[in-house]
Amino acid sequence: MSEAIKGEMKHHCENHERCMEMITAVLDGSASKEDMEHFRTEMDHCLPCIEGYELQKSIKDALNQKIEKKCCPDKTIADIKSKLQLATIVLVLLVSEIKLIDIYF
Ligand SMILES: [Zn+2]
Repeated sequence: MSEAIKGEMKHHCENHERCMEMITAVLDGSASKEDMEHFRTEMDHCLPCIEGYELQKSIKDALNQKIEKKCCPDKTIADIKSKLQLATIVLVLLVSEIKLIDIYF
């Protein structure tokens, strides 16, 4: 974003609370058509709202990533671990059986 464009922007939002509600709705996907329209026109020139949007979006993204990391790979790792343990037991049994065969036959 160039300084010239930044200079033309509003540095103070007169209805920031309304804007924040609108941003939350847009990020939630629950925004009405009217909200979306207001969002598009407002976001072009309202600096506090752009910053608010970026902040909320990054928090939402971070949360989403945390949730994904929490539920899926952990389960996969536990899955792999239990399969690996089973494979080790089978391998040990096979090896000891081969040794027994060596001894007795
Ligand atoms: Zn605004």
